[in-house]
Amino acid sequence: MSLSEFDIIARYFRRSPAGSGVELGVGDDAALVSPSPGRSLVLAMDTLVEGRHFPADTRPADIGHKALAVNLSDLAAMGAEPAWALLALTLPTVDEDWLRGFSEGFFTLAGRFGVTLVGGDTTRGPLTVTVQVLGQVAAGRALRRDAARPGQHLFVTGTPGDAALALEGVLAGESVASALRERLDRPEPRVVFGQRLAGLACAAIDVSDGLLADLGHLLEASGCGARVDVDAIPRSRWLRAIDDSRALAFQLGGGDDYELCFSVDADQVEAVHEAARDCGLAIAEIGIVEPQPGIRCVRADGSPFEAVVPGFDHFGDRRG
Ligand code: ADP
Ligand code: MG
Repeated sequence: MSLSEFDIIARYFRRSPAGSGVELGVGDDAALVSPSPGRSLVLAMDTLVEGRHFPADTRPADIGHKALAVNLSDLAAMGAEPAWALLALTLPTVDEDWLRGFSEGFFTLAGRFGVTLVGGDTTRGPLTVTVQVLGQVAAGRALRRDAARPGQHLFVTGTPGDAALALEGVLAGESVASALRERLDRPEPRVVFGQRLAGLACAAIDVSDGLLADLGHLLEASGCGARVDVDAIPRSRWLRAIDDSRALAFQLGGGDDYELCFSVDADQVEAVHEAARDCGLAIAEIGIVEPQPGIRCVRADGSPFEAVVPGFDHFGDRRG
């Protein structure tokens, strides 16, 4: 038995009631939403392709979670409050177990952050999931990449590198501890903390392609550089269990973390720590913005550390 495109949408993706600001959701030619006055609309879109963005053995619920999570992470890095989403689904076959799992993973995360799925597209082809999210932020308050200035303190959330460590294990065919595998399959977008940062932090980026690569993008956009104390980057128990130089390579160059990296004026540092405590989120100060371009890595004793960890580039052949 095969469901039609319309059956799939009706059975798995049309969920009522409509959330806040939704005039018209799934079912018409397009959705209608009402942004709040005085706030900027914040839009982001990310695609996951099987085999490239998630291993082929990834559970459908985890794919549904991750497809939305990576988008919410982009909104978090702008300091935005998520509101609406669109889902473009390309499926090789109609597999109802897969659709059930996928939609469960997607809607569970959507529900946690008040996101309403208002539309999308469903078609046949190699498994590909594209999500677009729309959120809002008070006008002028968005956390842009180009707002870092010399003297600001640099922070990162969580323990970067875990997802890349998990992926290495998966690709090597090893059995990966389930809590570690979750760091790859179930990233937690820092949505609430990101909103707290709007108005406290200056520049922000989410770490999807490796900490140094993404920090590099932020610094380049801001026209400055930074000193990074690599020993100040929090190390998870899994990374503490491996060789120091490998652990550093994962922390600095691993992808798929979806943590936030951001810069803060000295007089806001205490307020940022307080916001993190309120959110129950661990953050760490990892360095300082400097006027000269480039990232200068140092160890805890101040000695220079030569980091050779390029980030991930889908059109290059580099893998950090
Ligand atoms: P059209 O014929 O105009 O392209 P579609 O048949 O693609 O319309 O979609 C019908 C309705 O279902 C639209 O409101 C569309 O936004 C929605 N929709 C299609 N696929 C999905 C999906 N995967 N998730 C949520 N809504 C979807
Ligand atoms: Mg359509």
